[in-house]
Amino acid sequence: MYFTYEQPEFDRKDPAEIRRVIKEAYLVGKDAAREGKVADYIPELAKADGNDFGICVKTLDGEAIEFGDVEKRFSIQSISKVINLAVSLKFMGFQETFAHVRMEPTGDSFNSILKLDTVDDHPFNPMINAGAIQVMSVLSNVFEFEELLEFARNFCMDNDIELNEKVYRSESETGDRNRAITYLLKSKGVLQGDPDKTLDMYFRMCSLNVNARSLANMGLILANGGQNPYNGKHIIHPAYIRVIKSLMYTCGLYDESGEYGVLVGIPSKSGVGGGIIGAVDNLYGIGTYGPALNQKGNSVGGISAMQHMSHLLHLNVFY
Ligand code: GLN
Repeated sequence: MYFTYEQPEFDRKDPAEIRRVIKEAYLVGKDAAREGKVADYIPELAKADGNDFGICVKTLDGEAIEFGDVEKRFSIQSISKVINLAVSLKFMGFQETFAHVRMEPTGDSFNSILKLDTVDDHPFNPMINAGAIQVMSVLSNVFEFEELLEFARNFCMDNDIELNEKVYRSESETGDRNRAITYLLKSKGVLQGDPDKTLDMYFRMCSLNVNARSLANMGLILANGGQNPYNGKHIIHPAYIRVIKSLMYTCGLYDESGEYGVLVGIPSKSGVGGGIIGAVDNLYGIGTYGPALNQKGNSVGGISAMQHMSHLLHLNVFY
């Protein structure tokens, strides 16, 4: 864990300086990635190259500042939880969404079953597996996967997003823990949809192939009050965007959310595919890709790069 309060003097409005810092962040992240390990509990994910690293920062006027592996496709994994929540808020509303899932961090791992059985029948938040599965159980009664895929493409401004069949199959074959969570929710009478359809759609959404650019675009829409700044289209109401970003801030990095909130301070969401998405209000959408993960399942390079940028460019929400 690295912390400093020392601030070098430079012009933080100068595009050349901003670019320099983002390049440094890329190098810091690439170096840090050597400490991590790619996920292997979903066998298909173990094929990723832990040395890959890329960062894309999108600005409101359409500029992309990017370095490294920004075109490489990888599975979105838990970052799809943000999409599922956005769809639920947009089409079901606030009351209905939070009738089925809470908004508290757990301090437990992303796939934990613990508090679900011992503390509360409703999942703690939509950013962990239990919560995202619960949200999906509601959505599965109303939407087909293709409709969610279309929403994801708009949210990420990326029409090339497809289902990664191999990841989907690998995940579905080995997803016993998620099955256990789903059937526990069903046994408690909390699950809202058919368990198998719910799981199938949850696995499919985790298996969408994105890249650092698509994540940066999604971050930009979150940073811009739910509006696509390039075509003016409103994707999600600003009030819901605040809800989503608050949950990303408090719960977006599983049981590392508190430490990340202190050290980085940017509403973010990670996935075990190696992605991290960040939203810096009225300024940037950030996407990082580094499949080498730490023990909590978060990208080591991504966290280091985010911390570097946040510290030097003053991106912490509390700055
Ligand atoms: N598909 C993964 C799972 O359900 C998502 C987890 C993650 O990205 N942390 O286990």
